[in-house]
Amino acid sequence: MSTSTNSSATAIAIATAVNAGQSATVAVKIALAKAKADTLNAIIGVHETRALAAAARVDARIAAGERLPLAGVPLALKDNLLAEGLPATACSRVLTGFIAPYTATAVARLEAAGAVIVATTNMDEFAMGSSNETSVRGPVRNPIDPSRIPGGSSGGSAAAVAAGIVPLALGSDTGGSIRQPASLCGVVGLKPTYGTISRYGLIAFGSSMDQIGPFATTVADAALALRVMAGKDSNDSTCADRDPVGLEVLPADPVSVLKGLRVGFVAEHEAGLAPAVKACLDDAKKRLAAAGVILVPVTLPHERYAVAVYYVLATGEAASNLSRFDGIRYGHRSPTAQTLGEVYGRSRAEGFGAEVQRRIMLGTYVLSTGYYDAYYKKAQQVRRKIADDYATAFAACDVLLGPVSPTTAFKLGEKLADPLQMYLSDVFTIATNLAGVPGVSVPFGQDSQGLPIGMQLQAPMWADNRMLAVGAALQALR
Ligand code: GLN
Repeated sequence: MSTSTNSSATAIAIATAVNAGQSATVAVKIALAKAKADTLNAIIGVHETRALAAAARVDARIAAGERLPLAGVPLALKDNLLAEGLPATACSRVLTGFIAPYTATAVARLEAAGAVIVATTNMDEFAMGSSNETSVRGPVRNPIDPSRIPGGSSGGSAAAVAAGIVPLALGSDTGGSIRQPASLCGVVGLKPTYGTISRYGLIAFGSSMDQIGPFATTVADAALALRVMAGKDSNDSTCADRDPVGLEVLPADPVSVLKGLRVGFVAEHEAGLAPAVKACLDDAKKRLAAAGVILVPVTLPHERYAVAVYYVLATGEAASNLSRFDGIRYGHRSPTAQTLGEVYGRSRAEGFGAEVQRRIMLGTYVLSTGYYDAYYKKAQQVRRKIADDYATAFAACDVLLGPVSPTTAFKLGEKLADPLQMYLSDVFTIATNLAGVPGVSVPFGQDSQGLPIGMQLQAPMWADNRMLAVGAALQALR
């Protein structure tokens, strides 16, 4: 068979080959074999029977004359996304044994377009983390250097795509969980505008910031997955009632979009970057300028409060969202509990890991009477200012260029004992979610040890396609 249905090929190449009559089943079998051979702990479940049945259905649809945008494309799902009949545990002990009773809208749309779920990927527990080390399933190893973390919280999905197990995987991004691991593993990771993709069937963390998005090896593949997933869904009231305008196909010559385009950058971002990250950013600016962009310095004056604001709002939302895990309705129930209080208390104490418990306690505190105004309300006010800063910046530029992560992938265990250090991994990605704007990490360089470095592009609300066009150009300029 041709290499175009090999799962190291792009999603678009596989779909093109399958639409032309090559076997989806063969493409899916290759991915299943790779998923089974995973040595990174990126894959926590391989769904062979379901995948082969789905691949056979795709082959039958193609044979009947249908053409599908993602025909036969092997897909991996982060463990917080529901697909009916498959386990979904958010890599938490509290959900061990939980089987999804329905399918997430985003997942259903990918499947309807011909994608085939082959595996579930590892993640930080309830998507809380930046290194994939809070998972009850153990850490994921970075495919470029297995002594290092892949980033998080969607570390398994990033590593699975980087290792060539699947061409397409889904993650969720509340404060950087798609973009940061994409940067650290050297793949494309997209967080769309808040409200673009339905959150129905995503296990909630911080509902006002959570967005599902794709990992892929090319911006074009990520853009295709976005088009398939985007659009109104009556099951998620925050999913925008607007056509996914501007999600049209990327230009054939992506570099052509750069002429005269205003690319903003925040000079303050450049202090404190690891030298290799700074060099990569300088290189990106130089190449973009040579291709005709106008570089525009902008400021995001309130962005320095973003990490603090996020850890008030996201923990408050998490404390509320995770109250449903009570030992009665879902998952783990303490075997030693006698009274109702013990069922709640012990089930939650046994079911949640240390980081999740820390967030629930923080979140409960900031929402409690007497502290609400001082913390939660104040954080909401600063969130508004952060969003206003973006609006001002985007009056002066069409997209923003900057770093994703201040460093390349760190060593396993390096930041685990120091939550604050871990939280600071997300200084450049969190404000995006607070403002609701889209962000994408595009692989652009590497450090002296060959560790990948991604560049981040951000754009105004609903300008995802403009951002992706620039991302495709950036990928072409490498
Ligand atoms: N690392 C951040 C956190 O721990 C972001 C996580 C995410 O985007 N899900 O909250």
